[in-house]
Amino acid sequence: MKLDHDDSTRQTALKQPENRDYKYGTVGAVALDRHGNLAAATSTGGMTNKKFGRVGDAPIIGSGTYANNQTVAISCTGWGEYFIRLVMAKSISDMMEFGKMPLKEAADVMVMKRLPALGGDGGLIAVDKEGNIAMPFCTEGMYRGFIKSSGEKEVRIYKE
Ligand code: ASP
Repeated sequence: MKLDHDDSTRQTALKQPENRDYKYGTVGAVALDRHGNLAAATSTGGMTNKKFGRVGDAPIIGSGTYANNQTVAISCTGWGEYFIRLVMAKSISDMMEFGKMPLKEAADVMVMKRLPALGGDGGLIAVDKEGNIAMPFCTEGMYRGFIKSSGEKEVRIYKE
């Protein structure tokens, strides 16, 4: 699949010695409050050496960021063009709402199968209306953590 400037942007970034350990630099947050409200936020500088004017997935509601009290709150990080194509966050919400899939299953299908199948990579953090948490990624690592109202918490970088 030909990717035009998005692919060359990534290739240029990867070729630069200082970017050999290329990482995504997005910061995301999702939350479920005591009233059952779900919220998601995503902040990013975009991709290294991105073309001017590029709009990534983070500000596109339904792609890199999405929250719906009926289903889930999601914040994504990764190669944004693929998250946009997959309408990543809303697709997961729809799989839960209309396909009755649990969060983990829906998120795994999208992040671990459909995203790499297209040639993209990345991950996401998500919390559903029941408080279930999923943080799948198909990269080497993803800085992530959670805290529950019980006080249970976790911080991780690589896979278990
Ligand atoms: N998703 C962001 C973008 O494509 C990059 C990132 O997650 O760091 O703009």
